[in-house]
Amino acid sequence: MSPATGAVTDALRELHSRYAGDGQGELADYIPQLALADPGAFGLALISMDGHLYSAGDAGVPFTVQSVSKPFVYALALSLLGLDEVSRWVNAEPSGEAFNAISLERSTGRPANAMVNAGAIVTTALIPDTPVAPRFGRILDCLSRFAGRRLDVDEEVYASEAATGDRNRALAYLIRSTGPLPVDPVAAVETYFRQCSVRVTALDLAAMAATLAHGGVNPLTGDRVVAEPVAAQVLAVMATCGMYDGSGDWLLRVGLPAKSGVSGGLIAAGPARFGLAAYSPLLDPGGTSVRGRLAIGRLSERLGLHLMHNPALAASTVTLVTTADDLPAGPQAERGQPGRGRVAVAAAQGALDFTAAERVLYALDEAGTGRTGAVVLDLVRVTDIDTVARAMLRGGLARLAADGRHTAVADPDGRLREPGEEAGSIRSFASREEAVAACRATASG
Ligand code: GLU
Repeated sequence: MSPATGAVTDALRELHSRYAGDGQGELADYIPQLALADPGAFGLALISMDGHLYSAGDAGVPFTVQSVSKPFVYALALSLLGLDEVSRWVNAEPSGEAFNAISLERSTGRPANAMVNAGAIVTTALIPDTPVAPRFGRILDCLSRFAGRRLDVDEEVYASEAATGDRNRALAYLIRSTGPLPVDPVAAVETYFRQCSVRVTALDLAAMAATLAHGGVNPLTGDRVVAEPVAAQVLAVMATCGMYDGSGDWLLRVGLPAKSGVSGGLIAAGPARFGLAAYSPLLDPGGTSVRGRLAIGRLSERLGLHLMHNPALAASTVTLVTTADDLPAGPQAERGQPGRGRVAVAAAQGALDFTAAERVLYALDEAGTGRTGAVVLDLVRVTDIDTVARAMLRGGLARLAADGRHTAVADPDGRLREPGEEAGSIRSFASREEAVAACRATASG
């Protein structure tokens, strides 16, 4: 184990040993093959946005994905058909009901959401089925890309569910009888059983969750599996519906988009932070892994992972607000040239989004004395600017210019440039010193 990152592994191991002895819960037995699982099996895995991988216990033990497949097949449907079309057939409201309830809208027969069985069966039915690209082939490809390796089907679990899955078939018939579906849920239910029988490990599930958290790009393989808006849509539905009738309590206490499965898999995603997975087949009455719930809940609490808990957000975006005369002399010795107007300087660092850009704009307004003279925006230590922040900063600089102030940007990597724009309307320089010197020259010229 590497000594430094061993601290992360230790946190997982500590959780593992804390809950390994907890024998509460029951094995699922309505799919007979699932009752054969080892009740002592318990694995945890975490994958960071850089693809760093941490695990404890039985993270490499295979089991069937079951309902943890639902968000990923929903992602596939959203990718192929778009949110508006998918939402015509599957709603996105928490049902407050068990996974296998008849959660259908009274007037339309539309399932409540894609995380309960009724909605998942319709979602599977929405995946196009053509001779060249059969429905299940598309689903298996998609799940495999999320996991970052080729997955396969546990044929025994499939046969077991196919032999006993009459409740899901009944749901499919009921859906067909209530709604003008463009597809046949009765035919799709067999594909749904196959999708639930895809074999994974906790490490696979962590990679799948991490891909959603990473905006649709698998952090292990670099493969863009779905577009960023789709990943965000799926995480939103996981947050509100992923834990069935326990979704509200889970969001309240644990605060992470999650999905449970009846074989004992449980995933949770920290957007832009990590993917987390647990496997332990002993279930609580709601069908969620007991050890998985305990371990992920405690990890969230201990590491401050709750989505609504962001005390330190972008705290150090603006690193400097001053005038050039107060700075140490740069290589071009622009200091102390009498008679030249003062140049205000604001510097930023890190990744700039809406929140960060607002801070930078505020700093630009504050920089300098008397709110006159030239303004330099130093982006040398900025690592990324999203489209919203770019538009805001360009707009802010344009307003300063319209106010009669000379402006210049230190932007060696051209981050403030619009994609495809050559040298734009913004005066851009490789360093702060050059930007300050240019402002002085213009002011005195
Ligand atoms: N294949 C299972 C079913 O449809 C999945 C349920 C679950 O994992 O919650 O009954």
